[in-house]
Amino acid sequence: MSSSPLFYQAGPAMPEVSHARGVFLWDTEGRDYLDGCSGAISCNLGHHHEGIRDAMLAQLDKVAFTYRTQFENGPAMALAQSLVDMTNQDLEKVFFVSSGSEAVESAIKLARQYFFARGESQRRHFVSLRPSYHGSTLGALGVTGYQPLEVPFADITQGSIKVPGPDFFRRAEASDDAHVRELLRQTREQIEAAGGDSIIAIVLEPVGGASTGARMVNKAYLEGVRELCDEFGCLLIFDEVLSGVGRTGAWFAYQHWGVVPDLLTTAKGLGAGYYPVGALLCRADIVDTVMANGGFQHGHTYAGNPLACATGLAAVEAIRKENLLDNVAIRGQQLREGLDALKARFGFVGDVRGIGMLWGVELVQDLSSKAPFPAEANLFARVTALAKEEGLLIYPRRSLDGLAGDHFLVCPPLTISEQEVSLLLERLSVALQRLESEVIEPLMASPA
Ligand code: PMP
Repeated sequence: MSSSPLFYQAGPAMPEVSHARGVFLWDTEGRDYLDGCSGAISCNLGHHHEGIRDAMLAQLDKVAFTYRTQFENGPAMALAQSLVDMTNQDLEKVFFVSSGSEAVESAIKLARQYFFARGESQRRHFVSLRPSYHGSTLGALGVTGYQPLEVPFADITQGSIKVPGPDFFRRAEASDDAHVRELLRQTREQIEAAGGDSIIAIVLEPVGGASTGARMVNKAYLEGVRELCDEFGCLLIFDEVLSGVGRTGAWFAYQHWGVVPDLLTTAKGLGAGYYPVGALLCRADIVDTVMANGGFQHGHTYAGNPLACATGLAAVEAIRKENLLDNVAIRGQQLREGLDALKARFGFVGDVRGIGMLWGVELVQDLSSKAPFPAEANLFARVTALAKEEGLLIYPRRSLDGLAGDHFLVCPPLTISEQEVSLLLERLSVALQRLESEVIEPLMASPA
């Protein structure tokens, strides 16, 4: 039994962090770790960023907290305008929160209130993908498609209608086009079965995060989903908690495909790991309708406080000033080439996918059948532990609902340099080599 009163999830003993600079962290024993996953895909500007530190200190010297119903505050107004500008005015209204789950929760409630205000209270279902992850609070969990998280709460959440999401690696159809057609057919079928006028919104991540190991969508898929929403009169919500604020090389991932949602959630990289701040962005007419009918029945104490917004503003300004969207494109390409080389070298690396500085690596026992490793082998945990021993942090998952196997994310800070990408790849390569000799070879040699 641990002597610490802290508890999170069960897991291996962890080193204690001492300090961090740029893409590196050090533990109290003096070992360094290259942050190959930006913490939880949140420390997008690396550690100890001076611009953010200075902006936070300057705001602390003015005022840290005001409540949103008592004062306007400059940082909140400026950050809201920045976010709208980042969407090129596709979305014109902003509601601040303190986390990704709160942003999704807010999207769910705003969408429902919108239809309620329009006299369409029979709309009570959300459609979302399996697998997916949208957060840990009960509303966000209801739209999440990841069985281990859902099971204990299934009968106390309002579960969404789950439809399969794109999986271009494991698709059963002969082509990507046929795969997309089949996904859209199934989505339509489920919507019609529930009743088209009972749907509030379709919720999806334009680039999958931890739950899928960065599975991608394509333009035809997003366009098809947009058309379904328009046809059935429901809303389209993109969850960009992980993919937003520059992570993919655009301000928001949807901009790669030009398919615009009605609501968009973002968090993680907005506070860049320096302070919790997230946001719900949405179409102005949705907000106007809700406001004209009694206002949005929702809100959190810390939402949009000056320190949170000054932090977010400094993070966005740093991305602009340091041309980090360009860096993501260039260093992302270097990372992709390096990961592809590792895929060519190790037969158990089945797929490398992603965009910008958001890459997923999927492990397979058999390359031709794409069969995953047995769950008991815990490959995702083993590779993460080995990488950590080699001084590299990666973000692992195994899909326990049989939809895919072990995968991990490689998504370092957007600030990463050429030498640091090379070092990341070197450390990953050693970890994969050790995975092969210390785990996979003995596993394959042992009788089934
Ligand atoms: N949506 C997505 C796509 C996410 O990746 C996450 C966090 N991994 C969340 C929502 C929930 O965010 P938070 O942990 O900040 O509540």
